[in-house]
Amino acid sequence: MKIHEYQARSLLARGGVPVPGGAMVTSVEEATRVAGELFQQGASIVVVKAQVHAGGRGKAGFVKVVSSTEEVTDAATFMLGNKMVSPQTPPEGLEVTRLLIAEGVDIERELYLAITTDRMRRTNTLIASAEGGVEIEQVAEARPEAIHTVPLHPLDGLRPWQATSLAFTLGLRGRQVRQFTAVCMQLAKVFESSDASLAEINPLIITPADESHPDGQVLAIDAKFNFDDNALFRQKDIASCFDPTEEDPDEMRAKEAGLSFVALEGDIGCLVNGAGLAMSTMDIIKLHGGEPANFLDVGGDASQEAVTEAFRIILSEDTVKGVLVNIFGGIMQCDRIARAIVAAAEEVGFEVPLVVRLEGTNVEAARVILEEASERLPTMRTATDLEDAAAKVCAAVG
Ligand code: GDP
Ligand code: MG
Repeated sequence: MKIHEYQARSLLARGGVPVPGGAMVTSVEEATRVAGELFQQGASIVVVKAQVHAGGRGKAGFVKVVSSTEEVTDAATFMLGNKMVSPQTPPEGLEVTRLLIAEGVDIERELYLAITTDRMRRTNTLIASAEGGVEIEQVAEARPEAIHTVPLHPLDGLRPWQATSLAFTLGLRGRQVRQFTAVCMQLAKVFESSDASLAEINPLIITPADESHPDGQVLAIDAKFNFDDNALFRQKDIASCFDPTEEDPDEMRAKEAGLSFVALEGDIGCLVNGAGLAMSTMDIIKLHGGEPANFLDVGGDASQEAVTEAFRIILSEDTVKGVLVNIFGGIMQCDRIARAIVAAAEEVGFEVPLVVRLEGTNVEAARVILEEASERLPTMRTATDLEDAAAKVCAAVG
């Protein structure tokens, strides 16, 4: 699960990481009012930031650093009135309904700092670069040596000396070193205690020196978190940050029915039970020259209603030119799938070719049900095995 930047900043702030103040707003009036208060409290600059679950906002014009309330009004009007398009959004862009109005800061250096799980090393890893900011992806690609990684001990976690040594690698000096070490330790603690799978601060900045901070301040001014969905049951605070408007509506519908559904680019809708079978079904479709329109795993014991909902979701996509049902009934009973096919045929109708391969528990009963309903299923063909099913559906779709 992802959360918004304003939620991530508050999570970091609660964990002791220094973050400039600010507030989330949903209207131009609120934006202007909050900015007015920040200016009154002595801020010389304010940042207006679109809150969407996608990065690349800076380059897309959805992070604006301004110095008057009039400019805040303009920036907020623009962001709430236009879709944001960046390399991380769908091509049509994302609608912006929330903004973060934050106290702006002067920047001397932008660093990159993150913790994520390194599956190759089988441990959590701290990742840092002296070249943080909006170009980090290019840096990682062009000069991977500019990205430093520090493995965290599986039991002891991050040790302070590791963070301090990293500070020197990044060229920090004086009091910056202790501040940076503290941020790393706090980030590691937040990562661990929130069951995060990614905790990223980009940029972590160093402010120019001033009288009260002779070596500047180390501050987090952007934050991104992902969490392990399987841990949300014990992370009520995090779970309550969930914003359904940032999710694909079909994926949300599927989730409510207890199905695991991921929309893809192709035109063959797949209804399968078990993630492994779903993966091999997608593989074999590709092998026969087709492209799956989705990954849909109805799981082991979905109800007939849930399976019917799965068909509704698949058939609601006008990109779907054919449907492949591939069920290996173990716990899942084939007759339940057959009844759901008939229900979907009655409700929505299969106008596109439907290829069905059923095997396993209650398969005979399922064949009888489909046979009896064959008039209502004129586009249906049955397949003898997975290979045959893939070949048939790919041929039907063309
Ligand atoms: P992203 O593009 O979605 O990652 O959004 P960020 O929050 O990282 O902002 C993008 C860039 O805007 C940062 O790398 C900074 O260069 C700049 N920026 C963001 N906040 C401030 C601020 O308070 N002051 C200044 N001077 N620049 C900022
Ligand atoms: Mg950023």
